[in-house]
Amino acid sequence: MKKDSANLPKVAIVTGGSRGIGKAICLKLARQGYTIYFTYVSRDDKAREVCDEIKKLGTKGMSFKLDVSDKEAVTSFFKEHIKNKVFLSVLVNNAGITRDGIILRMSNEDWQRVIDVNLTGTFNFIQEASKIMVRQRYGRIINITSVVGLCGNPGQANYCASKAGIIGLTKAVALELASRQITVNAIAPGFIITEMTKDLDETTKKNYLSKIPLKRLGTTEDVASAVAWLASEEAGYVTGQVISVNGGLYL
Ligand code: NAP
Repeated sequence: MKKDSANLPKVAIVTGGSRGIGKAICLKLARQGYTIYFTYVSRDDKAREVCDEIKKLGTKGMSFKLDVSDKEAVTSFFKEHIKNKVFLSVLVNNAGITRDGIILRMSNEDWQRVIDVNLTGTFNFIQEASKIMVRQRYGRIINITSVVGLCGNPGQANYCASKAGIIGLTKAVALELASRQITVNAIAPGFIITEMTKDLDETTKKNYLSKIPLKRLGTTEDVASAVAWLASEEAGYVTGQVISVNGGLYL
């Protein structure tokens, strides 16, 4: 039976909500009346700013400092703050890092850290959230992958593998949870202006721009809008999909 999500409590978890795309997602959902629980790992100042901005929008925003790859920390977060305490409508797995380098020189450490944060971190949050959503018989899980998880990119074998892994994870979990009215989708942003991309040299940026049919780099709001749509009532019949938000870019 389809639940009318318009009448359900609005609570969202966003991982990596202190900056960039995650911050835009927090603010977008806050504007729609969601209570926001977001995580970050190091930047206390930035996390505080986001909490203040959410408050100004008239809703509640709470930040939690934890490493998404740390299973124990994730389990404790759910136990202390979410389980039996809130109706969890939306989970957005956004936290992500890069440690770029060509395959010939990539250290095991750089390979493992990117897989741990981007892919295992997403698994950790999905596993805990789905225990709650299955009981609720409702939930929206949205995972942030990347255009390079679909196409590959030289110098990013670890990152591309982690983002391609998120696509497989999304599709498998979508099939497992569909019978409980839980949708699971991924968003694949193209080149978005954030701290993650600001240090790329001008030649690389120009090169990307020349390949983007819409002739502009993406904004964090472009991605947040797609998240808000997947979280909405209107997207209730969409699951197991990868929505590209990339201006037409295919590397
Ligand atoms: P960003 O500006 O570098 O922000 C990353 C966020 O993740 C920060 O809030 C950071 O917290 C948090 N974070 C990093 N490692 C973490 C960990 N181990 N545990 C918990 N939180 C952690 O990144 P962004 O550009 O907004 O990217 C967001 C997502 O979009 C990532 O998954 C990225 O791969 C994906 N993406 C980005 C682009 C792009 O062009 N920017 C394109 C495609 C996909 P602190 O503030 O505490 O460090």
